Amino acid sequence: MSKQPSNQADLTDPLPIAQALIRAKSVTPADDGAIGVVESALEQLGFTCTRLRFGPIENLYARRGTKGPHLCFAGHTDVVPPGDLAGWTVDPFAAEIRDGLLMGRGATDMKGGVAAFIAAVAQAGEVPGSISFLITGDEEADAVDGTVKVLGWMAEQGEIPDMALVGEPTSKAELGDTIKIGRRGSMNAAITIHGIQGHAAYPQRADNPVHRLVRVLHGLTAKPLDEGTDWFEPSSLQVTSFDVGNPATNVIPGVAKAKLNIRFNDLHTGASLSAMLKEALEREGARHELDISISGESFVTKPGPYVEALRRAVRAETGREPALDTGGGTSDARFIARYCPVAELGAVGTTMHKADESTPVEELRALSRLYARVIGEVMGGA
Ligand SMILES: [Zn+2]
Repeated sequence: MSKQPSNQADLTDPLPIAQALIRAKSVTPADDGAIGVVESALEQLGFTCTRLRFGPIENLYARRGTKGPHLCFAGHTDVVPPGDLAGWTVDPFAAEIRDGLLMGRGATDMKGGVAAFIAAVAQAGEVPGSISFLITGDEEADAVDGTVKVLGWMAEQGEIPDMALVGEPTSKAELGDTIKIGRRGSMNAAITIHGIQGHAAYPQRADNPVHRLVRVLHGLTAKPLDEGTDWFEPSSLQVTSFDVGNPATNVIPGVAKAKLNIRFNDLHTGASLSAMLKEALEREGARHELDISISGESFVTKPGPYVEALRRAVRAETGREPALDTGGGTSDARFIARYCPVAELGAVGTTMHKADESTPVEELRALSRLYARVIGEVMGGA
């Protein structure tokens, strides 16, 4: 089974490229030749390819053209593990086609998307501006040695694009029904409140940390963080754990703990929410600890010429009016948003990370045509 698409003519069809990618067992953080499949295809298409290895991770930056506008296709070639093989009816790395479906790990998330990018470039032919690829092998796990570091390198080299498109499988039910123009931020907090342990019958000799923690959490949850914004639903603070671990009925415990997860919109930052939690605890006045980890800040690419170009491409290819959305978890777009406008548009994601992950072959081809239309729209309706 060859990992390389067999000849140049194949490059306008995303199917053989996607198959070659799926046959590379690039379960994160392994590469197994996946980046090489992208590299050799892009070299055939006239791109200058730069391999960027950070830690154990293979990444690729490739560019064709020197002028603007500069559009960057961003994606990843690593995949999540197949999980229990008993759940699969095919070999997850064989890239079999069954009943018109391309089957295999990464078919939707997102080797199909990367293959569609490449085919789109082959279909678009010569363009007036520049097209680049930011492809990482480190998205599904820690995302430390991937997109973040490649972007740092791109900034040093003066390679920051005018706009970027991430090919994550963001469509909900039908291709193109959703364009993600932002994502909520996410943070976790662990709160510990110390009191004074004592006999439940003599509360005056104790200081009950459970009561204090209840007051703090009540204050944090009594009213919504906000009412939402033009592009985001309201932020949400969820208490995910409340722990005392007290086996006795007549003892006031000495310590109480809770955990929170906050999904936040563009009215907040990790720093502003950290300050809010800190203030709530200081107001309570007890000895406490607060551990915060911010998984990602919120970002939004407000509708403007770029988002309009994407909408026109979707309408022309699919006849659908895409909804602009900021829901769901985090993706590498959160890193790119620090440098340039970024949106996410890709395959229907219903089977991602599941057993028997698949994408209809015709939908994969439609996705490549959609991306080719994006190139045309962005390059000035060329
Ligand atoms: Zn993905």
